[in-house]
Amino acid sequence: MDIKQIFTNNQQWIDEKLAADKDYFNKLSKGQNPDILYIGCSDSRVSAEELMGVKPGEVFVHRNIANMVPNTDLSAMSVITYAVNHLRVRHIVVCGHYHCGGVDSAMQSADLGLLNPWLRNIRDVYRLHQDELDAIDDKDKKYDRLVELNVQEQCVNVIKTADVQRAIKERRITVHGWVFDIYSGKLVDLKIDFDKILEGIMKIYRLM
Ligand SMILES: [Zn+2]
Repeated sequence: MDIKQIFTNNQQWIDEKLAADKDYFNKLSKGQNPDILYIGCSDSRVSAEELMGVKPGEVFVHRNIANMVPNTDLSAMSVITYAVNHLRVRHIVVCGHYHCGGVDSAMQSADLGLLNPWLRNIRDVYRLHQDELDAIDDKDKKYDRLVELNVQEQCVNVIKTADVQRAIKERRITVHGWVFDIYSGKLVDLKIDFDKILEGIMKIYRLM
């Protein structure tokens, strides 16, 4: 891609928006009031807004390699705090995707330098679900399942935070685990049974 083309595209986009609504950018500059916080992968094929069909202003987005929510990551934690306490979103989505390079890399025995501690979080997910994953012979199916279990564990990490626990208690915000099926383009709700998962662990993680 020619980098200059981006600016041509941008002008074209401005023209289209203004042709449909001459006050479009005046309205956009007034502020944001999104209902959803979306935490997804940085993968260039998984463009959050486009696959959800949402417009600017509708979703607060955080993306990183393999849609992780490590509790020591200041960026992810700040995004959650801001979205929950200031934007007062009603839904938090963690969205993974099949054929995730981050998940694939975590499963290789290779020293990837600075990526090691980040991908280690995925290895920890594997260890937590080792019995189920080891029982899957097909490598692609195993990785697909790891993608789903990683989404589940990152949702649990979201629920471990004090801000989210308070918001669930006070205004019943909901956490959702989704996977973008890169084979078909479909967005799949994993329908994770958080009540069941949290039943056994909330006595450890409850903060209030
Ligand atoms: Zn990915």
